[in-house]
Amino acid sequence: MSAQIISGKEISAAIREELRKRVADLKERHGVTPGLATVLVGVDAGSQMYVGMKNRAAAELGIYSRQVTLPQDTPEAELLGLVNGLNGDPVIHGILVQLPLPRHLDEGKVIEAIHPSKDVDGFTPLNTGRLMSGSGHFFAPCTPAGVVEMLLRSGHDPSGKRVVVLGRSNIVGQPLANLLLRKGRGGDATVTVCHSRTRDLAAVTRTAEILVVAIGRAEMITGAMVSPGAVVIDVGTHRVDDPGSAKGYRVCGDVLFDEVKEVAAAISPSPGGVGPMTITMLLANTVESAELSTGAA
Ligand code: NAP
Repeated sequence: MSAQIISGKEISAAIREELRKRVADLKERHGVTPGLATVLVGVDAGSQMYVGMKNRAAAELGIYSRQVTLPQDTPEAELLGLVNGLNGDPVIHGILVQLPLPRHLDEGKVIEAIHPSKDVDGFTPLNTGRLMSGSGHFFAPCTPAGVVEMLLRSGHDPSGKRVVVLGRSNIVGQPLANLLLRKGRGGDATVTVCHSRTRDLAAVTRTAEILVVAIGRAEMITGAMVSPGAVVIDVGTHRVDDPGSAKGYRVCGDVLFDEVKEVAAAISPSPGGVGPMTITMLLANTVESAELSTGAA
């Protein structure tokens, strides 16, 4: 039997509706408009597209968005100065520096320059540390936070479940494992993390009641790697050649969707799964930051 489809698009739309109300409330009760600054260095086409999508999504909710585009050869001191200025700008509640940066810029140094209270991407050391230590307020990185929200809102609370996270990157696998391990909402799972050195990967993935895949390998996860009745979230997104289609390519995930959907109880598609959730969680963090600035959160 075919699996329940966990639509990131639909869950995202529901969350954005909630955010719209919170934005209106902030304006009405506190006279505050949440503000998001996106910083783009250079002319990378993919990055320009992502930043454009984020700005449009922000505007649709009534969030003020300011895009700063700097030339490819911007000196590091100038970028750090800009970030510093945004840190002190009271109309900006969230700062996003679009990665990757040109090679002459030190990404770690630039991310560390963002004030943790405006780090809506959740990558500064303080937010990362607080996520791991479980103490104090933190902004969770958007893609992992989106995965947790998808599980909760589709009726698959990870609490008490055996969850296998496939991938240990700093932006997806590791922070997701930490979120799932935390005590409380969206956490309390029993988590196993796999990577390229994991022995007999399929034997591990088959133990999962919930399998989250973020390995960056197009359609690598087959039906034989999934336990019947498991919940599968596919973080991967790839363009693969498809001479039969009008565009000459198609978009797919890390999971062989047509095969796995016959084995799993529930599955998120790609596209239309984690992708829209990532932008939504960025907006959610920005609204939360604005609420915190007023003491309303
Ligand atoms: P990444 O930095 O390349 O990390 C991939 C992870 O998978 C690494 O931990 C790697 O192991 C592991 N891995 C690679 N090949 C493997 C194999 N054959 N067997 C077992 N493990 C393997 O990727 P990422 O940035 O986390 O992204 C993962 C995927 O998610 C990509 O397709 C990316 O495009 C997508 N993504 C989507 C969104 C979204 O918003 N939808 C956001 C971020 C990423 P090692 O650590 O041992 O190398």
